[in-house]
Amino acid sequence: MSFSCKNYDYNDDKCLMLKQECIPGRPGCVLEGRVALSEALTDRIKELEQKKTSGTIGKK
Ligand code: SF4
Repeated sequence: MSFSCKNYDYNDDKCLMLKQECIPGRPGCVLEGRVALSEALTDRIKELEQKKTSGTIGKK
């Protein structure tokens, strides 16, 4: 990680504020809208969001 964020938990490699993986610029992050996300990061966020919702799709 090439930055320091007060919300970043170095022991857990997670965001303390969002209680999720730290992806700088992700929704809810203090950097949201302040940094330009690389394509790789944007893909990562999309992937994580899909994982979150895929658990509920198809269940009745
Ligand atoms: S997701 Fe954002 S707010 Fe959370 S630790 Fe990472 S940079 Fe900080």
